[in-house]
Amino acid sequence: MRVTVIGTGYVGLVTGACLSYLGHRVTCVDSDPEKVAALQAGRVPIFEPHLEDLLILARERGGIDFAETLAGPVRESDVIFIAVGTPASANGSPDLRFLEAAARSIGAAMDANRQRVIVNKSTVPIGSGNLVESLIRDGSAAASVDPAAIRFGVVSNPEFLQEGSAIANSLYPDRIVVGAENAEMFALMEKLYRPIIEQTFAAPAFLPRPAGQSRVPFVATALTSAEMIKYAANAFLAMKISFANEMANICEKVGAEITQVARGIGLDARIGGRFLNAGVGWGGSCFGKDLQALTHTALEYGYRPLLLEATQEVNRQQRQIVIQKLQEKLFVLKGRTIGLLGLAFKPDTDDLRDAPSLTIAARLLQMGARVRAYDPIAMSVCRQQNPDLAIQYCGSVAELAGGADALVLVTEWQEFRTLDLSAVAQLMAHPVLIDGRNQIDPAAARKAGFDFSAIGHGLMREVSSVSHPRRVPEAAARLIPADQGKSGLQRLQ
Ligand code: NAD
Repeated sequence: MRVTVIGTGYVGLVTGACLSYLGHRVTCVDSDPEKVAALQAGRVPIFEPHLEDLLILARERGGIDFAETLAGPVRESDVIFIAVGTPASANGSPDLRFLEAAARSIGAAMDANRQRVIVNKSTVPIGSGNLVESLIRDGSAAASVDPAAIRFGVVSNPEFLQEGSAIANSLYPDRIVVGAENAEMFALMEKLYRPIIEQTFAAPAFLPRPAGQSRVPFVATALTSAEMIKYAANAFLAMKISFANEMANICEKVGAEITQVARGIGLDARIGGRFLNAGVGWGGSCFGKDLQALTHTALEYGYRPLLLEATQEVNRQQRQIVIQKLQEKLFVLKGRTIGLLGLAFKPDTDDLRDAPSLTIAARLLQMGARVRAYDPIAMSVCRQQNPDLAIQYCGSVAELAGGADALVLVTEWQEFRTLDLSAVAQLMAHPVLIDGRNQIDPAAARKAGFDFSAIGHGLMREVSSVSHPRRVPEAAARLIPADQGKSGLQRLQ
């Protein structure tokens, strides 16, 4: 099929590359001329694993090109994706400027030559399908296109990819959700995604098909339900992390270990183990703004969403926990040099939108500390996007640690999980290490000479390693109910 994707950010570019890899002919349009020029020159303006490799294959398969204006591509396309940003505005409601501009421009470019599907992939408030349809009609009317002559339908096709594994999430998704108002639209979307639904495409060598991957469910819903599914999914995932963080904070009070607790509850199939990692809180381009948007929508309809509010509040507080831990270790933070291991909101991306690192850095700077940071990928983006944040950027972990009073692991990059801890500790003025993502073995950190702390490790002072239950000393063992004893703890390992 002939496809146009409007917006070449994390979602649009990945969508365009995947559809073209499947054999569709794709044009990706972006209003940012620098992005388009980079893509036309073969450079990928964002960091996403395997995207560059996939774009090379996409050119050879369906074919993919890049343009600044959408009129030509829209006229030639059967399917037009809208994948522009929908950031939060000051009152928490989504800022729909980009979506509205895209919809009007599509309308202005329409002609009577074919039936088109307009696919809303941006995360938009419930009811936006109708809004997009009316804006397309407005755009057509303004461009004097005969409204009776144009044939199109608007569908909602929410995106569930995770940055860092976006290609795998798109080629091997858990489900494809499509909201539409008529059977013809569902049929066109099913045709577009058939190679993914039936898993008939040849898997790229760098991303083999996961063992056991079978037919992908195609979930056909009402337009509004599809829009709601996206918000509900993100709200649930954010709530799961906030729940784990709240449990971690209680664990610290009562002398329990959140990693053990998370495993113990996560093995329950009704709960599931993913998104239960305690840490410095969730961030990224979606959770915060989507929770705000859903809260805003609920309030508009006179409903106060207490669980959504609590999910956000727990996360706000969680970002401050690192500061408290630093104060416990160093007492005064003014004049101290604190090194942040990681800036990106999660590993394998350069995305810094709503990253906990930025909140932590800003608070430390406000308290008079000196803040250094090292991130394998996200430093230049951070410098560019936050010119007022007086972070000293370091070229390596060694430079970050040299003479520092404390290090805080903020992003769980692979590189930080395999550090030579003794070598790092020796470089520091005070070997204080706060593991904000529970990635480092406490026993190894202590052995390396660190004054170490993590999140929700209430047993930390007694237990040398969570993976060696036999080493639980008497004091910690007393905290385990008598009827469970050692075997109870071992069941959680
Ligand atoms: P992004 O900001 O990375 O990219 C958006 C792109 O759209 C930018 O390159 C911008 O220049 C371009 N653009 C804006 N207006 C345009 C116009 N009128 N014409 C052409 N191009 C235009 O955004 P993103 O992270 O890719 O997110 C896009 C949407 O997908 C958002 O609604 C987001 O909530 C949703 N989403 C994002 C993710 C994610 O992980 N990033 C996951 C699921 C859903």
